[in-house]
Amino acid sequence: PSITQHQGFLMSIPVGPSLLFSGGLVAYGEAVQSENVKEAPRKKVVILGTGWAGTSFLKSIRSSSYDIHVVSPRNYFAFTPLLPSVTCGTVEARSIVEPIRNISRKSGVNIEFSEAECYKIDPKNKKVYCRADPEKKMGGIEDFSLDYDYLVIAMGARSNTFNTPGVQEHAYFLKEVDDALRIRQKVVDLFEKASIPSISDEEKKKLLSFVIVGGGPTGVEFAAELHDFVHEDLSKLYPSLQRYVNITLLEAGDHILNMFDKRITEFAETKFKRDGIDVKLGSMVIKVSEREISAKDRVSGQVASIPHGMVVWSTGVGPRPEIIEFMKQVGQSNRRALATDEWLRVEGYDNIYALGDCATINQRKVMEDIALIFSKADKKNSGKLDLKEFQGVVDDIIERYPQVEIYLKKNQMKDIATLLKFSQDSSVTVDIESFKSALSNVDTQMKNLPPTAQVAAQQGAYLADCFNRMEICERYPEGPLRFRGTGRHRFHPFRYKHFGQFAPLGGEQTAAQLPGDWISIGHSTQWLWYSIYASKLVSWRTRALVVSDWGRRFVFGRDSSRI
Ligand code: FAD
Repeated sequence: PSITQHQGFLMSIPVGPSLLFSGGLVAYGEAVQSENVKEAPRKKVVILGTGWAGTSFLKSIRSSSYDIHVVSPRNYFAFTPLLPSVTCGTVEARSIVEPIRNISRKSGVNIEFSEAECYKIDPKNKKVYCRADPEKKMGGIEDFSLDYDYLVIAMGARSNTFNTPGVQEHAYFLKEVDDALRIRQKVVDLFEKASIPSISDEEKKKLLSFVIVGGGPTGVEFAAELHDFVHEDLSKLYPSLQRYVNITLLEAGDHILNMFDKRITEFAETKFKRDGIDVKLGSMVIKVSEREISAKDRVSGQVASIPHGMVVWSTGVGPRPEIIEFMKQVGQSNRRALATDEWLRVEGYDNIYALGDCATINQRKVMEDIALIFSKADKKNSGKLDLKEFQGVVDDIIERYPQVEIYLKKNQMKDIATLLKFSQDSSVTVDIESFKSALSNVDTQMKNLPPTAQVAAQQGAYLADCFNRMEICERYPEGPLRFRGTGRHRFHPFRYKHFGQFAPLGGEQTAAQLPGDWISIGHSTQWLWYSIYASKLVSWRTRALVVSDWGRRFVFGRDSSRI
């Protein structure tokens, strides 16, 4: 085939690393690319962050036609789903981290790394400003700046306190490896302190009162880990303290794990009740002090104070200060995360991408685009669409917008047709205005992609894939062909594939909600969890370490030394 024909095909296949890197297509693409690389100046790519999104980008980038510079205050990647296990010593912190230089070395591409944090992005001059030694511990290392042609912002998010008084000062977070280690230290500290002979019974009770705020997957998993640690290990080492231990889980909503299926929620609540974990639903925390936490009951309005030895705060994430500052610069100050288009480009900037927890795909724009597709179909069909055509248009939409697909899968075509007041068997006139108002209904039901590792990793791999093909596409701009006319980006939009989610509940039991709303709960699901998480770890080294930690825990229990 001629180059252009071949390219057209290459560009129109769905984006996905396995497809794109298999077989002769790549060999052909790379051959053409390397010919061109000689002439083209190397573009500078700066990546901010070494979390799920940034690392996934680094693992998938293959093109050597960029000068890549990674900036992050963390010189490692951390496998966050195992952080709750680190809090109680089920796995060791070093087992879940991989040096970023190891990852970049293996990619075979020239990648530089600077351990620093970016404190300012200047999109006009295409520069980022970074600080290598924020706490000035190393003695006056100068700040530096980097120029970029493309900027990839993958800085994640920070724990959201909702400005609740006292949280920042007195609560523990569970976001980073350091947080998990701090929690581990504190739990053992509290048990040792409560063992001191001069401590009164009442004080023991206070010290061993653990309060977890937030009934999402992280809060629930931590509560389950802590319960297992206390009952399987600490109970043998501190038998006289068992009767003083109390674990409370505060959740502002009506249920814990409310993003999961009702069956999982019910199972988790019943199991926690049986285990003696005190789940308080509808409890809004209003204040945290050094020794007490105050929560307001959403129904009665009554405020109750619970004495605590430790509060762990896990109520979701919000934007980092640097991102808030950047959002102001690009006119997005009213948003909760950086808005991008479906190609992950920050709105209004062709060369700045944002992915992972710091970004969100702009839904309103998606809705306007959907309305546009309908209005085009409407013109073509002179105002009439039968159900088959309607289905075709919807297929078009879901190809471009994964979020809509998730919605449609849940609610089925028939429901959408009803929603739009289309009848199954007749040809109907599409009224774009009423369609738009129906869409606003869909809009409120369509959720933004959740801030998860799954989304961040897929976005990183997708973007690397676009970068791998960027140069060849610039030279041969014939494809992809469906969006060319609309002045769109050259690649297929990002398409999220949901692989399901797990909620470990302690006692070697896990709940899983897999694609197709397939639910599985119990001991066998725990083994599924072990095998999937082991396979998802970033390297053979971390895989071996984590599996041996699990084995060690089975044989010898968790380590409670206070190091
Ligand atoms: P992160 O992974 O947070 O990475 C952000 C990176 O940016 C870090 O390297 C950070 O050091 C760097 N950075 C920060 N500030 C700057 C700066 N100023 N300049 C440069 N770099 C900066 N998701 C799942 O899908 N499944 C799970 O089971 C799961 N379990 C979780 C358990 C816990 C305890 C936690 C906290 C999260 C869990 N998540 C899970 C969510 C998942 O970890 C996040 O969604 C994911 O980490 C987001 O990836 P990211 O790359 O956007 O951000």
